[in-house]
Order: sequence, then C-alpha cells, then structure tokens
Amino acid sequence: MSYYFIYVKKKKLINKKVKKRIDGKCIFCGEDDYNLLDAHRIIPGGKYTDFNTITTCSLCHRKTHSGRIVILGKHFSSSGRHVIHCTIDGEEKWIST
Ligand SMILES: [Zn+2]
Ligand SMILES: [Zn+2]
Repeated sequence: MSYYFIYVKKKKLINKKVKKRIDGKCIFCGEDDYNLLDAHRIIPGGKYTDFNTITTCSLCHRKTHSGRIVILGKHFSSSGRHVIHCTIDGEEKWIST
C-alpha cells in the first residue's frame, strides 16, 4: 500500500448513510437499529472522512456532546483497524471499530 493511497483514503469524504450501514451499530453500546444511528465527527466541525467519523446511536451521540463520553484519540491498530481511545462516565476504554 503506497503512502498516496493511504492519504487519499484518509481524506476521502464518506457518505454518512453508507457509513452507518457498513458499521451497522453504535461503537459505544452496540445499538444496531439503523434509524437510531448517527454519524459523529471526532473533530467538531471537521470533515466527514472515515477517520474523523464514528457511528453512534442517538443516545451515545448526545453523551459525546454533553461530555459523558470523551474521545481522547483515534489510533490504527496493527491489523489496520481503527481503535478509539475514550472515557465513558469517567472510565477509560479502548474500542476497536
Ligand atoms: Zn450507543
Ligand atoms: Zn456529533
């Protein structure tokens, strides 16, 4: 995989509906009702790229905005997946997406 390919992949804007269908569930609580799923941007006001967007249910989405869920960072695991580093109600968690 070339650097260029990674760069393009990271910057490419996503279709929120497609992302929600692919992810299929809230990364925090596992809610899988499509109608309850939202696309949340990790960097507020940032672009809807795959790296900047996570799928959450409306309830957890509200928690990310009220501060009960705090996203500290997003990392690549050795298997190439994304790992979210966050706190939920003050408890530190690492979540594979
Ligand atoms: Zn949820
Ligand atoms: Zn949001």
